[in-house]
Amino acid sequence: MLTVSSTDRVFILAGAGVSAESGIPTFRGVGGLWRNYRIEEVASPEAWNRDPRLVWEFYSMRRRVASAAKPNPAHFALAKLENTLQERLFACTQNVDNLHEQAGSRNVVHMHGELFKSRCGTCSRPPFDDTNLYEPPAEVPRCECGGRIRPHICWFGEVPFELHRIYRALGQCTLFVAIGTSGVVEPAASFVAHVNGRARTIYVGPENPANTSSFTECYLGKAGEVLPDLFGAL
Ligand code: NAD
Ligand code: ZN
Repeated sequence: MLTVSSTDRVFILAGAGVSAESGIPTFRGVGGLWRNYRIEEVASPEAWNRDPRLVWEFYSMRRRVASAAKPNPAHFALAKLENTLQERLFACTQNVDNLHEQAGSRNVVHMHGELFKSRCGTCSRPPFDDTNLYEPPAEVPRCECGGRIRPHICWFGEVPFELHRIYRALGQCTLFVAIGTSGVVEPAASFVAHVNGRARTIYVGPENPANTSSFTECYLGKAGEVLPDLFGAL
């Protein structure tokens, strides 16, 4: 069990593994989401410019998968932690589903965007809620400005959202906990190295991540089984 003291500031980095037990496949696991799609053909600005209908087909499929999913005990444990620690918790997820929010979390930074939001690829109109499925033969949706509406997702080659707030929170944390993230997607994979030497660094997941040597301690197991009993002495 991990002791969290009354002065600790906790940074959570959640990855695809947190939603795996809810039935949303990870990218790298068996049956990974991109099985039928080559990811570079659907999740990059180049893909969008080349074939926006294919991109919307992929994200519509992901919206359908995520709509059927329910939060698991890992999401509920994180929501409870937020409730206890309040502003001493900074939760950052790489997940684009909304299962943290469904479990009751109110303050999660989605560094890779949100599946149920869209935005204009041309003008500065802010991202908006969107649960529609845009599947062929449907046309790619258009903004009032004439630009194409795209998923509010950070694609390969794009800069993740809220990095400024994220690095500020990394600078303040005393306990860093990464959960279900393979440690290969940058810049998230380097967050642990950023806090090393200043904070305790913990990993939770069924196998060691690629950056395992950067962690003080690894709790090997499924997020839904480890997290509910992980945080003690709150
Ligand atoms: P990843 O697919 O690279 O790695 C998944 C990790 O989860 C692996 O290390 C695996 O060991 C671990 N894992 C599998 N089952 C687990 C469980 N039950 N409990 C805990 N851990 C488990 O995922 P990533 O490192 O998050 O990065 C890949 C990218 O994929 C991210 O950019 C993310 O945006 C995107 N992604 C998001 C979702 C989602 O929103 N739910 C799903 C798939 C991929
Ligand atoms: Zn526009």
